[in-house]
Amino acid sequence: MKYLLKGGTVVSGTDVRKADVLIEDEKIVAVSDDMIQDDAALIDVTGKLLFPGFIDAHTHFDLEVSGTVTADNFDTGTKAAIAGGTTCIIDFATQNKGETLQEGLANWHKKADGRSSCDYGFHMAISEWTPQVSDEIPEMFEAGITSFKMYMTYSSRVRDWEIYQILKRIKEYGGVAGVHCENGELIDELIKEQKKAGNLSPSAHPVSRPSSIEAEAVNRFLTIAKLVDVPVIVVHLSSKEGFREIEQARENGQRVYVETCPQYLLMDEGRYYLPGFESAKYVISPPLRTKADNECLWKALKEEQIDTVATDHCSFTTGQKEMGKDDFTKIPNGMPGVETRAVLMYTFGVLEDRISLTQMCKLMAENPAKLYGMYPQKGCLEPGSDADLVIWDPNYESRITAKDQLQNMDYAPFEGLSVKGRAEKVFLRGVLSVEDGKVIKENHGKYISRKRGNLD
Ligand SMILES: [Zn+2]
Repeated sequence: MKYLLKGGTVVSGTDVRKADVLIEDEKIVAVSDDMIQDDAALIDVTGKLLFPGFIDAHTHFDLEVSGTVTADNFDTGTKAAIAGGTTCIIDFATQNKGETLQEGLANWHKKADGRSSCDYGFHMAISEWTPQVSDEIPEMFEAGITSFKMYMTYSSRVRDWEIYQILKRIKEYGGVAGVHCENGELIDELIKEQKKAGNLSPSAHPVSRPSSIEAEAVNRFLTIAKLVDVPVIVVHLSSKEGFREIEQARENGQRVYVETCPQYLLMDEGRYYLPGFESAKYVISPPLRTKADNECLWKALKEEQIDTVATDHCSFTTGQKEMGKDDFTKIPNGMPGVETRAVLMYTFGVLEDRISLTQMCKLMAENPAKLYGMYPQKGCLEPGSDADLVIWDPNYESRITAKDQLQNMDYAPFEGLSVKGRAEKVFLRGVLSVEDGKVIKENHGKYISRKRGNLD
């Protein structure tokens, strides 16, 4: 199938310009002025912005957490993703304790293959480091997995020596690791204190995980990375204090990539004091911080000190959140986000002049594609790239509400918020998958075997 998108404005990581785009089968074949192509289906995109398909490099679909499973699986999660303009996600294939990496990977393929409506890749989350696991690392690269994840908190956390050895090992192959930076041991102590004092409501959650707990872990992780001499990624950065540690490491010549998420830009800890059990919806880790933290992160985005905006989509219904009604530590941690990332970043980033259109393109498409080894197949609108493309209506106005969303959720964290802009049409490898904001093509997503990343 051939399409000619005519009269639109193409956004890249470097400029915004009027151009027509010609798509043939799975690929973009030309981007230039005033094209005529008689055998192509013509789509008039006058007044619309054309973005490369957005990439969300941080989702958790069909993941077991705290004795339950995330509300969204690959079926519902990827449908929600593509409806919001995200044409590729990178989820975390997870090695549970006692499993090999290959078993973890096979499990994730079983969850995702054949039931995804956008393309997908996997990071490999390592929770147990043994000589056998180390031997599997080259196989992961052969399988298209070039990025790894470690947790410094939760029961799946790895110790400093393990982080050191893992970084050394993946460095041999040119891989990269992202780490959830929070000091798990101290969190356990602070939780004990909260419980002892009888503070069992969600308001105890942020108290048990202050910014200093994130900052200390960022510092320690970057100390380890410096010893190994390898670039690393701090995922879902939430705080000013954590950001200071990154600035410091960079001043000392270290290469550090940083990801944040809309919730850390647009929400603050006030949510933990909402009446009733409402506050449980916002129990995520790291927790929401202060308005000053929000502003620090926005400033860092503007100055291009943060590289990517992902979502950490990890959804639980209010029913699942109820597991922690009498004890905040039993509330499954996480919130949805994969569906609304673009509209939030457009409305509160671009339209409020906190970031530019080109920066939005970098943060949500170009940079994750480069960092995670998918560029220029994805992340740009260039001849030869996958025809993953968002036709963005900059004038569409709507209100975020749970009943309109495709993610398998009975609430929306941003319920009632007025937003502007919409992914009106979305192409996934040349197939029109979203039309008038509705998903019209399902299960067309495929596994993306990734190369080694390269983001300067
Ligand atoms: Zn996560």
